[in-house]
Amino acid sequence: MRGPAVFLAHGSPMSALGGDAHAAALKHFGQAHAGARGIVIVSAHWQTSAPVRATAWEHAPLVYDFGGFPEELYRIRYPAAGDPALAARIPGAVAEVSRGLDHGAWVPLRLAWPDARIPVVQVSLPATGPQEVFNLGRGLRPLRDEGIIVIGSGGIVHNFGLVHFSEKNSGIDPWAAEFDRWVAARIAGQDIEGLLNYRASAPEAEVAVPTPEHFDPIFIALGAAWPDERLETIYEGFHYGNLSMRSFAWVA
Ligand code: ZN
Repeated sequence: MRGPAVFLAHGSPMSALGGDAHAAALKHFGQAHAGARGIVIVSAHWQTSAPVRATAWEHAPLVYDFGGFPEELYRIRYPAAGDPALAARIPGAVAEVSRGLDHGAWVPLRLAWPDARIPVVQVSLPATGPQEVFNLGRGLRPLRDEGIIVIGSGGIVHNFGLVHFSEKNSGIDPWAAEFDRWVAARIAGQDIEGLLNYRASAPEAEVAVPTPEHFDPIFIALGAAWPDERLETIYEGFHYGNLSMRSFAWVA
């Protein structure tokens, strides 16, 4: 069975604690794809210049790449196996054996597949722009036919300087809602050209996407999608007033 092409918003590291509608939605999605053979995930938190890197360890070490959060976050484990043979087949990638899964990977993976039974390969995010990220997603697309889930992990609206950290269920800032809606409409139509040019044409792009690393992983999912596939909205909504948690997948 073909694996889905997925974009998962990971939000703040606090998302790892779950207990909210976003966590429930990811869990529900994960249950529907529990029989996958492997996961290839590209996170906002591991950017490299060319060539991209692919984790080639046998068992996933975790990176706690955040500071100042509650102690329980640093005790979380996600003992997924790696898949060095799959890592060796990532187009243009070189093997990386020292770096573990970062929180952009293990937070959503643990929400969706808490038992960590599906092997995981993390691939670095090209730092060279959305076209290169899209090309990487396109290169990963054939793997889906082997039951591999291809995931980009980030956030459509992600401006940490403007997040209302005191109120997770705060009212939604209009600029954030407007940008998120614009992107969602183009995702629904697989408008690749429109999305690649978002910085010039989307409303509020400079506020919503101050730096591109959380936005660019949508191009992993777009690149890995086929034009005739059904788009499934896994979750839509915001945390802390403007952190978009929109998550979606193209499924065969
Ligand atoms: Zn992040």
